[in-house]
Amino acid sequence: MKVDDGDNSKTTFLPIVDYKDFLDKAKRQFEEDWKRKKNPPGLSIQDFDIQRTLGTGSFGRVVLALCTKNNSYYAMKILDKGSIIKAKQLDHTLNEKRILQALNFPFVVYMEFSLKDNSYLYFTMPFIAGGEMFTHLRRMGKFDEGCSRFYSAQVVLALEYLHYLDLVYRDLKPENILIDKFGYLKITDFGFCKIVKGRTWTLCGTPEYLAPEIIMSKGYSKSVDWWSFGVLLYEMCAGYPPFIATDPMKIYEKIIAGRYRFANFFSPELRDLIKNLLQVDITKRFGILKMGVDDIKDHKWFRGIQWLSLLNRKLDAPFIPKCKSSGDSSNFEHYEEVPLRISSTDQFAKEFAEF
Ligand code: AMP
Repeated sequence: MKVDDGDNSKTTFLPIVDYKDFLDKAKRQFEEDWKRKKNPPGLSIQDFDIQRTLGTGSFGRVVLALCTKNNSYYAMKILDKGSIIKAKQLDHTLNEKRILQALNFPFVVYMEFSLKDNSYLYFTMPFIAGGEMFTHLRRMGKFDEGCSRFYSAQVVLALEYLHYLDLVYRDLKPENILIDKFGYLKITDFGFCKIVKGRTWTLCGTPEYLAPEIIMSKGYSKSVDWWSFGVLLYEMCAGYPPFIATDPMKIYEKIIAGRYRFANFFSPELRDLIKNLLQVDITKRFGILKMGVDDIKDHKWFRGIQWLSLLNRKLDAPFIPKCKSSGDSSNFEHYEEVPLRISSTDQFAKEFAEF
């Protein structure tokens, strides 16, 4: 059944009646799609009218593009082949593409198809028109606990899905969470996401959101996402993250020491949940204990959340972003536009032959 979420193509398993069965099917589907090469049926970059930049990332930017052949809007991540090679990010980029093309979950973006030309790679995703959670959070100051519960419950389900596929996300933060036109979330930016069956050691992420085990160069796995989830939950409810300083080294010191204070308006249930997520000692951190994600889903702060109804997008969203039309990008901030410079010869053809 088609997902009624404003995007325009991918089919999922909705309605979901048995969550465990859904996760098993999702895993099989992910493994199949991961191997598959997905090319657009007869489209090239000339069929797209690039309208404006929506956001920038570490190795490129994301633009709003109108496909003149089917009259649909897309978000297109544009990556410069030369910069990828220079920064030795070839494997990393191919990994991001494979993951993006194989994802299929109501609260996660995915790639419909990819394109390449002489100079650039293009990851084409449904355009999520409501903008970044970051923008709305800064504008509103903070979210009340009811609104934070609605959002964070979707993040819990998305992390549960990703972890079930053996993916560690590693970059949870309000900038990477989009709100769709129905007020539901979509996690974007899979640049740091990785299949991890054992442990990994790479130092990556965003300072305020880094788990202590990453800073201390310990091998780590899914625990880091639950730590970042604790930081996100705190930031949604307070309007600022728990560990702040102007110097990143000072942030890291606070993180390692687990030194933060609750805002005085946090409810006792919220404090208890955050305390169990922001546990420096990973043998005590919620999300990776014997009960796994159930320690979080069954926590008293989430009492009243109907998880299956949420997953099937049946709950009323607390806030609906203003979207006047399908290509309305007014929820996104403005960026300096940089015109594409497409070379007359195919750059790095051999390196990107697989793409
Ligand atoms: P990324 O390079 O993946 O980190 O994306 C950079 C920014 O582009 C994000 O923070 C969003 O503001 C925007 N963006 C990414 N994907 C989408 C999408 N599917 N729809 C709308 N905006 C997006």
